[in-house]
Amino acid sequence: MNSQEYIALEEKYGAHNYHPLDVVLTKGEGVWVYDVDGNKYLDCLSAYSALNQGHVHPKILKALLEQAKKLTLTSRAFRNDQLPLLYKELAELTGYDMSLLMNSGVEAVETAIKVARKWAYRKKGVARNSAEIITASGNFHGRTITAISFSTKSHYREDFGPFTPGFITVPYGDAKRIQQAVTPNTAAVLIEPIQGEAGVIIPPPGYLKELAGICKKNNILFITDEIQTGLGRTGKLFACEHEGVRPDITIIGKALSGGFYPVSAVLADEEVLGLFEPGEHGSTFGGSPLAAAIARAALNVINEENLVEKANVLGEYLLEQLSEIPSRHVKEVRGRGLLIGIELKPEAGGARRFCEALQHRGILTKDAHENVIRFTPPLVIDKQTIDSVLPAIRDVLNMI
Ligand SMILES: *Cc1c(COP(=O)(O)O)cnc(C)c1O
Repeated sequence: MNSQEYIALEEKYGAHNYHPLDVVLTKGEGVWVYDVDGNKYLDCLSAYSALNQGHVHPKILKALLEQAKKLTLTSRAFRNDQLPLLYKELAELTGYDMSLLMNSGVEAVETAIKVARKWAYRKKGVARNSAEIITASGNFHGRTITAISFSTKSHYREDFGPFTPGFITVPYGDAKRIQQAVTPNTAAVLIEPIQGEAGVIIPPPGYLKELAGICKKNNILFITDEIQTGLGRTGKLFACEHEGVRPDITIIGKALSGGFYPVSAVLADEEVLGLFEPGEHGSTFGGSPLAAAIARAALNVINEENLVEKANVLGEYLLEQLSEIPSRHVKEVRGRGLLIGIELKPEAGGARRFCEALQHRGILTKDAHENVIRFTPPLVIDKQTIDSVLPAIRDVLNMI
């Protein structure tokens, strides 16, 4: 079958909850992907940072195959010999006492919200069912009813109410507004250290530090969603480290499995995550031996291949190169590490057409928030590969 035939099948039999580029991929290796018609592309999206380690990393593949032959799932009714090792390695890597394993990112967000509420009732003395969580406009924390309950994008919410109560949303990047929203019932502040889906929005310097200070002063949990920014993407293990901030709860997912399997986690110290008691929370697949073996290998690759430092060095280089491209369409180029966005001027006609043009030049990426083209290649990319695609990016940014 060719691309058009696959696309026709998908349109006919699949729900239309996505509007993908018309490229039908069949194979990936490192930073490269191949479509069913034999074309090769540089992946500059990395599945929204789930593929920090690149496509089909051989070491993660090996861990998956070996574990899949031995034991895939026990449910948490029994223990397995992979999960404890993952717990220990996550603690050593991140400095948090404990973790709780889930599958998709949004499940970890929900988990963090649950434990923050319990903390508010049991530790802070908030009256039951009245905990409040402060979130920021432009946020993206996933697609469950609770996560969209505090989304500010009407398209994500419109026909899906009623919503989960208990959330207050203030403008992103303004610490004063968070301070003003604090009440005695505030359990937590939940934010992304950089808003990826909103179009690579980097808050003003000092924002995260100020939020951490407000939380500490008011006995509030500081929760950061590092599902997209974490595990090396921004040139630090966690984006919060750019401001020397250690949140009370960090949520990770995406690259935790290097793209092989959905694995997410909530990281916190014992005084918070220790609050869960048996039966209060769980997941059939969460923390399975297969998930744990894959995550262990994925973390190991980040360490062994110095991906955090690579993101830092190559991110700086790519940002500089992209910034130097003269183009009447570009409003701003911004980023941290290899999380980079090119914001187009409103009159440029939207980022989608630029992404389609890039596709025809062998570069795959996705528009974010209408006017932003993101460049977030796998962290295993090298300088030579970056250099090889710059002329095509230059041409596309200068199209009419
Ligand atoms: C992708 C993402 C999520 C949701 O993760 P899923 O695995 O799609 O549920 C949540 N928060 C952020 C910041 C993300 O980028």
